Amino acid sequence: MRDRELYQQILGLQPPWKVSDIRLSLADRQVVIVVERDLAVSLTCPVCGQSCGVYGHRRRTWRHLDTCQLQTVIEAEVPRVSCCEHGVQQIAVSWAEPGGRFTSLFEAMVIAWLGEAPIAAVAALVGLSWDHVDGIQQRAIDRGLARRKPAVVKNLGIDETSYQADHEYISVITDRDRRVVLEVLEDRKKETVLAWLDTLSAEQQREIKTVSMDMWEAFINAFLERIPEADRKICFDRFHIASYFGKAVDDVRIAEHQALRASGGKSILTHTKHQWLRNSERTDNRSRTWFMALTRASLKTARAWAIKEQAGKLWSFTSRTWAEKAWCRLLGWMKRSRLAPVIKTAKTIQAHLWGILNAIVTASTNAIGESLNARIQKIKAMACGFRNRARFRRAILFHLGGLNLMPSGASYPTHTKA
Ligand SMILES: [Zn+2]
Repeated sequence: MRDRELYQQILGLQPPWKVSDIRLSLADRQVVIVVERDLAVSLTCPVCGQSCGVYGHRRRTWRHLDTCQLQTVIEAEVPRVSCCEHGVQQIAVSWAEPGGRFTSLFEAMVIAWLGEAPIAAVAALVGLSWDHVDGIQQRAIDRGLARRKPAVVKNLGIDETSYQADHEYISVITDRDRRVVLEVLEDRKKETVLAWLDTLSAEQQREIKTVSMDMWEAFINAFLERIPEADRKICFDRFHIASYFGKAVDDVRIAEHQALRASGGKSILTHTKHQWLRNSERTDNRSRTWFMALTRASLKTARAWAIKEQAGKLWSFTSRTWAEKAWCRLLGWMKRSRLAPVIKTAKTIQAHLWGILNAIVTASTNAIGESLNARIQKIKAMACGFRNRARFRRAILFHLGGLNLMPSGASYPTHTKA
C-alpha cells in the first residue's frame, strides 16, 4: 500500500480523491494511477454548488508529468451530477482544467518548454503529436488573453515588422514601460490602426502620454485623428531618424565614388562605406586615424557625414525652444549643402520636426520596440514561418505578450521550491 500513499503525495491529491490502484507496465514505460472519489462525500453542481444526485460516471484519463522516467497517466471515473437547474454536469477535478486531456502541471511544463523551443522539438521531447502540443499552446494563449484586463498604457510604441515575403508587413504595438507586445495588427494601414485605437476606452485614449514610431504617415494620421493632443505625443524614434541621415550619407558616397572612378583615378572612397555609417564615437582607434584624415579631405561625403554626426548630437535637450533652435540651424546647413540627398532629407526632417522635438523633450525612443522586433523575427525563424497572420499574431502574444498563460492551480516550474 505504500506506493499508493507515495503517489497520493506526489499528485498532491486531497480528499475526497484518493489513489485506489497503480498499474505499472514496464514494457510501455507507463504507469497508470487510478484515482477514485470517496462515495460517501456528497456531490454538488459545479455551476451553482447545490447538492445533487449522481447521474453516472465517465472514465477519463489525463497525461501527467513523468514519474521515474515513466509516462504517467491518471485515470478516474468522474461522476456526473444531475442538477435540477443546470442539467447533467461533469464535476470538476482538482488536477486538470475542464475538458483537458492533460493535467494542469503537465500543460504547465509544456508551456514552459514552448517558451524555449519550437513545437516540433517539444512534441518529440514529451512524446506527443505536433497537434497536441499546438493545442496546449493555443489554449494557453486563449487563457492569457481572457485573463488580460484592460489597462492604461502611458507610453506606447508602434512599429512595422516583416511577415513572410518582402514588403508584407504587420504592425506591432508595444507597452514601452512593461516591455510587452499589446497587439499585432495584420497590416500597416491607417484604418487598421484606427480600428485598434477604437477598442480603447476614452480613458485609455486620453491617458496615452507618448507614442514612439517611425515617420510612417498611416501611423501618424491614425493617432492624430483619434488621440487628443497627439501632435504633442507622437515621438519619432531617434534610431529611425538616424537611418535617414545614414541613407543620405550613403547616397552621397555612392555618387561621389562613381564620379571619382569615372574621372580616371582610383577612388579614395573604396571600401569606406561602413566607416561613414558607423557611429563615430564607437569607431575603434586603429581605423580612426586614417578615417579622421578622410573626414577632413575635401569630399562631398565628408560634408554629408559631418551633418549626420551633428544630427546625432542634437538629442539631449530638455528645453523644446533650445532643441528647436539647434535643429533649425542644422536644417539651414543641410539646405545650403548643395548635396541632393541631404537636401531631400532636410525636407523630410523639417516636415516632421514637431515629432522629433516631442521625442527629445520626453526622452522617448522605441529601442524596446526594436529589441522586441528582433525577438519577433527569431520566433518567425523558430517556427519556420506561419501559415497565416492570425497564427503569427498568437505566437507573438504567447512569447512577448506578458500574458498569464499557466493553467489555474499549476505553478510549474517554480513549485519545486520548497
Ligand atoms: Zn446547478
